[in-house]
Amino acid sequence: MTHTTASDHTEQFEARWRQVLERDKRADHEFVFAVRTTGIYCRPSCPARRPKRENVAFYTDALAAEAAGFRTCKRCLPRQAITPGDQAIAGVCRALQQAVISAERPPTAEQLAVVVKLSASRLHTLFKAAVGMTINQYTQALRSAQVRAALDKGASITDAIFAAGYSSTGHFYRRAERELGMPARRYQNKGQAMTIEYTIATCELGQLLVARSERGICAIALGDSGDELIADLLERFSNAQKIMPSDDFAEQIQQVISHIEQPGAASLNLPLDIRGTAFQRRVWQALQNIKPGQTISYRELAEQIGAPTAARAVANACGANTLAVLVPCHRVVRGDGSLSGYRWGVERKRELLKREKMK
Ligand SMILES: [Zn+2]
Repeated sequence: MTHTTASDHTEQFEARWRQVLERDKRADHEFVFAVRTTGIYCRPSCPARRPKRENVAFYTDALAAEAAGFRTCKRCLPRQAITPGDQAIAGVCRALQQAVISAERPPTAEQLAVVVKLSASRLHTLFKAAVGMTINQYTQALRSAQVRAALDKGASITDAIFAAGYSSTGHFYRRAERELGMPARRYQNKGQAMTIEYTIATCELGQLLVARSERGICAIALGDSGDELIADLLERFSNAQKIMPSDDFAEQIQQVISHIEQPGAASLNLPLDIRGTAFQRRVWQALQNIKPGQTISYRELAEQIGAPTAARAVANACGANTLAVLVPCHRVVRGDGSLSGYRWGVERKRELLKREKMK
């Protein structure tokens, strides 16, 4: 039952946290702990000062912590403790880690066995002995870590799930509580410790919402109803502090409007606050290199970022873009050139492309 799972997990967290406080050496083989504020992960016995409880996350091992974006501690060297000495097995771990980070389908045990020149059954035995879990369990741990990392960075639950290479959200939800130790929703950060200002303006493509954090423009959305756009924004950044728009912000909004109405007319150099997983950022970066008036297919885009098998994950990353037009996901079309969906309405996508082609 859900309740049992949740409380089991709270108990597990408490038990692990106690072991961390006691610097319990026996726990070194069971898990590592990571500190969100420093980005570093440690063995439970690490002599360094204890972090605050609320900043701690537990991972099954060093590779799972690294998949979630944490770096090894220079004092207790947790990576050395857990990385298998066997080169072949370490290579298998890296291959799985790489696939999960890129939101690609992880290689099967049979494929891995061919690469390391072992029989599949021999690989299974060696892997289990070195890592302490099966290849499947290991891949699962990496994916869960990746979901947690994406949620930590403010991704929506759906986006976080696809960013970890799951083929459907159902797959993830079936094990979400067990993997995360809490309902996925509680993991989201929703703009904590962030300050945002936002405005609704009218442009030729409809209602336009622009929001800015202390780092730069953090949301651009188009729609028919300003109220709906605001409701979406406030849901995404419900924990952020909202402030009155300032004068220089109004100036930036004007730049955004002229960029939307005459795309590519002038180069735009606004600071952007782009939030997403490493994979999403790679996709969004590649989008920014597509020239106005040009289009590209998801498959081509996947090839361009060096993840040729990840067309589906690339499409999801495009769909997760929250900076309309400035991160030009409207320039991605189907393989046959037809228009696929657009978060802000496929008619707007058509109109944007038409305006760019007329230039
Ligand atoms: Zn340490």
